[in-house]
Amino acid sequence: MISQIRLSEYPAGRPAADFWQLTHDPLKEINTGDVMLRIDWISVDPGMSGWITDKRSYMPPVKPGEIMRAFGIGEVIESDSDTLAIGDAVTGFTGVCTHAVLPAKHLRKVDTSLAPAQLYLSALGMTGYTGYFGMTDIGRPEPNQTVVVSSAAGAVGSIASQIAKQLGARVVGIAGGPDKTSYLLNELGLDAAIDYRNEDITAALKIAAPNGIDVYFDNVGGEILDAALMQMNRHGRIVVCGGISQYSDWDQAQGPANYMQIVTHSLLMQGFTMRDYMARIPEALKVLLEGYNAGTLKFREHVVEGIECFPEAFDMLFAGRNQGKLLIKMS
Ligand code: NAP
Repeated sequence: MISQIRLSEYPAGRPAADFWQLTHDPLKEINTGDVMLRIDWISVDPGMSGWITDKRSYMPPVKPGEIMRAFGIGEVIESDSDTLAIGDAVTGFTGVCTHAVLPAKHLRKVDTSLAPAQLYLSALGMTGYTGYFGMTDIGRPEPNQTVVVSSAAGAVGSIASQIAKQLGARVVGIAGGPDKTSYLLNELGLDAAIDYRNEDITAALKIAAPNGIDVYFDNVGGEILDAALMQMNRHGRIVVCGGISQYSDWDQAQGPANYMQIVTHSLLMQGFTMRDYMARIPEALKVLLEGYNAGTLKFREHVVEGIECFPEAFDMLFAGRNQGKLLIKMS
């Protein structure tokens, strides 16, 4: 049998536990070109909230009754494909389920002799690539410039912050609570940290970034984006990676009140998704793998166990209860 998490209905705000259903079905037959996977790890992402609303997005929404979309990683246990064999470890959109039958062409093989499988969902996967490309391609900090990263203790933010440090920037991380700010200073080696839950963000930014901000890597939107906008240097760049503070209500999401700063300070504000960078994944993987092998790339994985944990795990992201990349270990 396959167990899967289905969406019951589109939530109006943060989905409560009863917006999800755990269902069980018999295993499907595989067709030509397909493989059957045993899914070992599921990635739990804030962006999932954008898949459970009928607002226009970069891919169609998951409809009520459908299996929840998710990145996963698993092992091929049956194959009718020329490219993937039994035993191969693969990643892609597997859905939140224990097994899946998928076309082999929709999956990417990963090399688990280089790193444990789940790392290809975290530091060495889409999460790591997002931090890498957002910072190197859009943020492009120069040595000694000031970079500010929000949700800096999180999965993407921690990688983006470290890439900025590698490029020689002075990096200020923003995160919620003293444990996370301590992680930013003592583990990631950032130059300053702001606890936005306990500090006035505008005043704290003035102290932490006394020469203004050259690059703001935004994961949260809302008030923090507005505060950063007011302290951007001329020709600064804002990398719009995400806006988690606005994900609970897509209909009432607040745009930045201070957006005229983009005009008055000749700012570049650019969003992106990994769709823009699929062809360049090997470049990011090479850099991240080098850091992993050298032990210089720091990352945390927050693992919960069992498919039935999905509703609780998803909510953790919005309460800030995850410490690093949130993953479900399936068995
Ligand atoms: P994460 O940062 O590991 O976890 C989410 C964190 O967001 C929470 O731990 C919490 O940290 C913070 N948060 C929650 N509500 C907040 C609020 N109202 N204000 C400020 N911070 C809040 O998650 P992630 O997977 O790395 O994702 C981070 C961002 O990147 C998200 O916006 C996501 O949508 C985006 N993303 C974009 C792409 C892309 O291709 N563009 C790809 C992946 C992810 P604190 O305890 O610090 O509050």
